[in-house]
Amino acid sequence: MLAAMPIPAAIVDESGVVLAVNRWLEHATGDQLLVPLSSGTDHTTNLRRGVDDSRWRVRPLDDRAAILLATAERLDAGDHLLRKFFASDHALFVVYDQSGCVIESNRAWASLLGYSHEEVFGLDSWTLLPDDDLATRAEVEDALRRNGRADPTFQMRTSSGEYRLIQWNLHFDYSVGHCFGIGRDITEEDRAASELERKAYTDELTGLANRARLVDRIDQLLTDNRHPALLYCDLDRFKVVNDSLGHTVGDSLLSALARRLEVSTGDHDDVTIARLGGDEFVVLIDEADHERALRIAGKLLCSLKRPIIVDDRHIHASMSVGIAAAQDGSTTNELLSHADTAVYEAKRIGRGVAVTFDDSLQERVDRRFHVEAGLRKALDTGGIETFYQPLVDLHTGLIVGAEALVRWRNESGDIVGPGGFLDVAEDAGLLPAIGDRVAASAFDTASRVLTMNPGFSIAINTSQDELLTDGFSPQLAHAALSVGVSPERVVVEIVESAAISTSCALPVLEQLRENGFRIALDDFGTGFSSLAHLRDLPIDIVKVDRSFVASMTEDAIAKALTKSLLDLGSSLQLEVIMEGIETAEQEASALAIGGSLAQGYRYYKPMPQSEFLELMMIDEMSRAA
Ligand code: C2E
Ligand code: MG
Ligand code: MG
Repeated sequence: MLAAMPIPAAIVDESGVVLAVNRWLEHATGDQLLVPLSSGTDHTTNLRRGVDDSRWRVRPLDDRAAILLATAERLDAGDHLLRKFFASDHALFVVYDQSGCVIESNRAWASLLGYSHEEVFGLDSWTLLPDDDLATRAEVEDALRRNGRADPTFQMRTSSGEYRLIQWNLHFDYSVGHCFGIGRDITEEDRAASELERKAYTDELTGLANRARLVDRIDQLLTDNRHPALLYCDLDRFKVVNDSLGHTVGDSLLSALARRLEVSTGDHDDVTIARLGGDEFVVLIDEADHERALRIAGKLLCSLKRPIIVDDRHIHASMSVGIAAAQDGSTTNELLSHADTAVYEAKRIGRGVAVTFDDSLQERVDRRFHVEAGLRKALDTGGIETFYQPLVDLHTGLIVGAEALVRWRNESGDIVGPGGFLDVAEDAGLLPAIGDRVAASAFDTASRVLTMNPGFSIAINTSQDELLTDGFSPQLAHAALSVGVSPERVVVEIVESAAISTSCALPVLEQLRENGFRIALDDFGTGFSSLAHLRDLPIDIVKVDRSFVASMTEDAIAKALTKSLLDLGSSLQLEVIMEGIETAEQEASALAIGGSLAQGYRYYKPMPQSEFLELMMIDEMSRAA
């Protein structure tokens, strides 16, 4: 206890730079020492020059500071000198007795706490700790009792009620039963560090947690053997908002959405909401099984039923949610990737829904991944093939045309039908490329058949993606004409949804017709809106869906229904093709209701080009005969 044991002393840092000295030292060393000292000046030499080295010992305080004590010199001095003890502005210095009452402090400590130097004497230093910080006091006292020293950091209340955070090196001097401490006010440093940390863990735009914070939190939960669930939320068609209303509105929408998510998940300690960037948010629930996660997802989706108001605009936002719940042994990356997989699936199946990740979803995703990779390769290596199914005249049995049907020869050499890959191709945006290959080989085949049978027509299937590709019609016409096939010999098959759901498709259909193509409405009867719109569509042919043909022989109503489709087509002067005739009975029914053109296994199955060309030669010979 320096106050009760006045000795010359100085605080020096690890490099020997003097931080503070006491008056005793001045006294002891006379004018050989440059005192009072300002921090940052290396006065070790002076100190050492001023006194005999053997009379000094270094008393370590911590890694950063030491007290250099002149043990030999014990000056007898009065209180007024003690009061000047440690006149440093830089280090805080305090001495208190066993009950915590301050015996001595330097001015820096007193003024930091808002007291005059006189006022601090007798102050119970423990009362300056926050009210509820009894634990710190107990810990500190315990450490001092055990080791004679403690390095706590705690807050101290100033006279104005504000708190300062102080890092202490406390030493208990057994010889006098007092404790002395050197402290450093780290309030600003700590604020800056907290602010940095806050920034490092916060999404600037929304104030929500960011990815780093989310990952930390999941890591922590998994380490604690909890079973968190992740709801990966992705705004649907956010790009449209951004593109059409601008980024400022887009940003406001994201902020408003963040608030909506907060409100709809409620004020729960066990929920963390984070924005990963863009329009992707994650709601993390500390402990939840699939059911609970689904319930919360339901709430989130419901919360978007009301429009979000941004700058007086009512924006009807929707989002897709992917849910992944942790199992024993789950990792953070796994959870994030599972939730991401699930949200991707939610988008794929129609947006605005929640999908839960499970093993079967993973299998489906893997399949899609392999199929997509296989298709891309096939597009490069000629693995996209075209099969042909003849179109026959029901009355004569002669082949009047054919439909080109795509096939994928996969890496094992198996032929895969469209049912095994078209969905993936569509999602991956590969349909236009695939369509090009099919059209090219269909036109090549048609050009050969047309030399034998000039009345022959070739039908190709198109998807909505293709129809909406810029320049689709002229390019198709070019592809046909370049191999000598007139567009009049080509039927472009469209499915009802493509024709009707987008008004954008209508001009394309009109252009196709202008270019000379004929248009067939495929799978006729399966789209509920077809009848009303049929008259307005620029089409030449309807292909009555196989399901009608199949049920036609089963009961009278189905037969009547099929007949009505056929009559409707005929009354609009459209050519009608019956699809999927498999049996003699179906053929008879088709003829009975007035059908004249058909496709079906009863006649031919789809076949490779070589086989089809051979067949056409035989057909030609039978015509000639
Ligand atoms: P679709 O255009 O209605 O083609 C007729 C489908 O019915 C073909 O199936 C054909 O093999 C099948 N089929 C014909 N007759 C019978 C029969 O008597 N019984 C049975 N059970 N089935 C019969 P496929 O080749 O599997 O094609 C399925 C669908 O894939 C096609 O239906 C078409 O919508 C689509 N598709 C095929 N090729 C292409 C293509 O190149 N581009 C696009 N966008 N779609 C295609
Ligand atoms: Mg078709
Ligand atoms: Mg069809």
